[in-house]
Amino acid sequence: MIVCFDIGGTAIKGAVAHAPEDVRPLPRRPTPLQDFDAFVQVLRDTIAESGGAPECIAISIAGVLDPDSGAATVANIPCIHGRRLVADLEAALALPVIVANDADCFAIAEAGLGAGRGHRVVFGAIIGSGVGGGLVIDGRLINSHGGFAGEWGHGPVAATRTGNPPLEIPRFQCGCGLKGCVDATCSARGMETLHMHLHGERLTSEEIIAGWDAGELKASQTIDIVVDVIASPLALVINVTGATIVPVGGGLSNSRTFLQAIDAAVRARILRRFDRPLVVPALCTVEPGLLGAALLGLTANHQKE
Ligand SMILES: [Zn+2]
Repeated sequence: MIVCFDIGGTAIKGAVAHAPEDVRPLPRRPTPLQDFDAFVQVLRDTIAESGGAPECIAISIAGVLDPDSGAATVANIPCIHGRRLVADLEAALALPVIVANDADCFAIAEAGLGAGRGHRVVFGAIIGSGVGGGLVIDGRLINSHGGFAGEWGHGPVAATRTGNPPLEIPRFQCGCGLKGCVDATCSARGMETLHMHLHGERLTSEEIIAGWDAGELKASQTIDIVVDVIASPLALVINVTGATIVPVGGGLSNSRTFLQAIDAAVRARILRRFDRPLVVPALCTVEPGLLGAALLGLTANHQKE
């Protein structure tokens, strides 16, 4: 048995996992943001509630670990930001601890229990408040230490001349510190920034997608550009990894028509021909972080035995 957690800036959600099909949620608690001891105590209380002695703890976080130093980058939880999270938690809890990025947990959940079942190479993509992803090959997450593999959303690769007729698009500043990231143009906020830049209109990403669905001209121009900018880097990811399925999660994946447009654009840009959708909605829509952490923990535990 293992205990898994999905830790975000508001809540710490825990669950007891006996098997991939047997993951039972425990009560959620508010995340202590400033006090590491209080943070550890919440984990202890949750572990105590599991009613057993877990073999390990597996945690999904909205951040990354530095592969060299182990230092965590978790901007919205100051008390763990900068800490060597695995070492500090193992010392505090006296249990083996696995920590993974939330997009990686999403990818492993989709590979094991979602739209990626039956595929050897699964690239799980997040398109929402950020653009991220994770790669799972033969059931194993390609990211044993850290959280940078699969980060296709960052790097100055967004096209700057795009649309029909072509328009010049600036390299927007990204939250990661770089300019011209796919994230800066194609995340929910990126789409809003792009729409504002093109049309001087402040709309939410939901409103822009709804306008595009309704055939509205300005929204359609924005979405055409977003789809064009996002499709090339995603196509390259598929060529490089050989992924045969790309389950998509995140807020923008709620629009089926938006995903279908991305799927068509991506399939037109890759070498391999698919006569079926490749970019598809995720199936593990309830607690993917928790499920992915459970699978990671159970797999690690199994390999140890
Ligand atoms: Zn970036």
